[in-house]
Amino acid sequence: MTSGGDSPGMNAALRAVVRTVAYYRLDCAGIYRGYQGLIEGDIVKMDARSVHHIIQKGGTILKTARSNEFRTIEGRKKAHENLVEEKIDALIVIGGDGSFTGGMIFSKEFNFPVIGIPGTIDNDIFGTDFTIGYDTALNTAVDVIDKIRDTASSHNRLFFVEVMGRHAGFIALNAGIGAGAEEILIPEEDMGLDRLLNSLEKSRRSGKTSSIVVVAEGDKTGENVFELAKYVEDNLPQYEARVSILGHMQRGGSPSCFDRVLASRMGVKAVELLIDGKSNLMVGIQNNQMVAIDLEKAIKENHSMNKEILRIAEIMSV
Ligand code: ATP
Repeated sequence: MTSGGDSPGMNAALRAVVRTVAYYRLDCAGIYRGYQGLIEGDIVKMDARSVHHIIQKGGTILKTARSNEFRTIEGRKKAHENLVEEKIDALIVIGGDGSFTGGMIFSKEFNFPVIGIPGTIDNDIFGTDFTIGYDTALNTAVDVIDKIRDTASSHNRLFFVEVMGRHAGFIALNAGIGAGAEEILIPEEDMGLDRLLNSLEKSRRSGKTSSIVVVAEGDKTGENVFELAKYVEDNLPQYEARVSILGHMQRGGSPSCFDRVLASRMGVKAVELLIDGKSNLMVGIQNNQMVAIDLEKAIKENHSMNKEILRIAEIMSV
């Protein structure tokens, strides 16, 4: 199943799971709409041909959903009954940490094997260097920021570009470096309004006529990106500020080659872990090697920001 927020590459992961199961001559079923579909018995048999021509598609052909019913024991009982009825004896969940939390609770309650594949654009999951969809989202964000840069420099304007990341600044930091942003504001580091003003003032004095500030959704420097832009305009009247919120476009689109390959590797690993009798694990990639992480650890611990990349951002904004 795919569950929680969609991300580009979920289809590629699904394809890899289904094809690996076929390779080992086992049976496979797809569950529509995440845990909600499982509770409602929305389950379909899948074989190698069911997943042709989906590796390049964004979104998820199995659809995804958030399910409040699965948060209740009654909901999870129904889910378990449906799995037993369909003679399904293991579950692979492609999703984020919420989906893994649900999977872990379910696995413990019913002693049911569950493996997680990290599919989320935020890259905020511990135990894997990359999640499926993150690379594509980064590239989408950089493409759009490049376009905004054209208008910013034509009009000598300051643009605040908000990218996704309520709790993690991976997209903001890396897209900001990739697009040559003057400042990058992320939830992990509160830059403070004074430092932002000083830095923008310094850029202006050094001769810059336009600037891009990339702001993660969850940044704490201002109330929100509009307040932030207003504060800067009020205090630095030389600047004409505009706000652009990239929003859901970052979740869509065809997955990058990196995400397709990552998803394929993760799908194969997930099935092979189950064949080896393993459970309650998340598949991850570390130093270009496939790894298996305890699901509980993946949920509870934080994926920390690479300090070296933070330093690059600082040096580039000179
Ligand atoms: P994203 O990172 O994109 O938000 P996610 O997988 O973290 O994806 P959530 O909405 O947090 O998305 O979780 C997906 C689903 O997992 C929830 O709708 C719910 O059905 C299930 N889930 C999450 N937390 C729990 C929990 N504590 N108990 C049972 N089920 C849960």
